[in-house]
Amino acid sequence: MISVRVPDPSGELHPKLADYQAEITGDYPQRVELAGNKWKTRGSSPQLRPVRDAYSEASGGYCMYCANSEGNVLDHFWPKAHYPDMVFSWTNFVHACGTCNTTYKRTRFAVFSTISGNRVDIVRDPKQVPVEPESGDPLLIDPGRENPLQYLRLDLLGTWEFRPRFPIGTREYERAKYTVEEVLHLNRGHLRKARQASYDAFRRALAEQAQTPSPDRDQVLREPRHLAVWHEMKRERNKLPELKRLFDAIPQACYW
Ligand SMILES: [Zn+2]
Repeated sequence: MISVRVPDPSGELHPKLADYQAEITGDYPQRVELAGNKWKTRGSSPQLRPVRDAYSEASGGYCMYCANSEGNVLDHFWPKAHYPDMVFSWTNFVHACGTCNTTYKRTRFAVFSTISGNRVDIVRDPKQVPVEPESGDPLLIDPGRENPLQYLRLDLLGTWEFRPRFPIGTREYERAKYTVEEVLHLNRGHLRKARQASYDAFRRALAEQAQTPSPDRDQVLREPRHLAVWHEMKRERNKLPELKRLFDAIPQACYW
């Protein structure tokens, strides 16, 4: 996952989105239908190009979920099929690839219920009239509004899997498991291989910097692809002897 804060480049996008959102009216089933229809026509329209461009630029063009493929769609973090009142919300977008968006995330969503505190999966029977979902905090980690590494750790020694940082029984643990295993399947084989390749590239850059210092060496980090690997390398540097040696030789790399 790529943690990205997306600034509104023009300062004018929010009112435009608010106007579009104001068109989503009626009772809940009507709003669900309107949200789907309006997004179909507006989501890829020239009017929303600045929104798509801002998200794409902030994420370096990569999918904010898998951090590996090129992003080419605006995903709704709170799925529009369940949350029509957020279909045009600036803070509800995630720049995503088609695979993460349509194969894995789709309309999957779950919350910790405001009433019971328990997990509630937001699902809909297509044969029934839609009803408003139970309110609560999301289980899915939001790469646009949160730092995924607060909940996840990356195994740098062999598996290259994302795993929960917090112990079983905590909400943080549940959120990590839900995000990585149930929804986005972030430990897919080719993603783990790509993380290993990024690790090797970062480690090589450190070793080269120790040998031949260059002010541009941190360019290796300019691509946000698998930057979580780099952040995990910094976080774990005092635990792994090889990384400790490299970072000790180039202390400024901690600020790269
Ligand atoms: Zn993806």
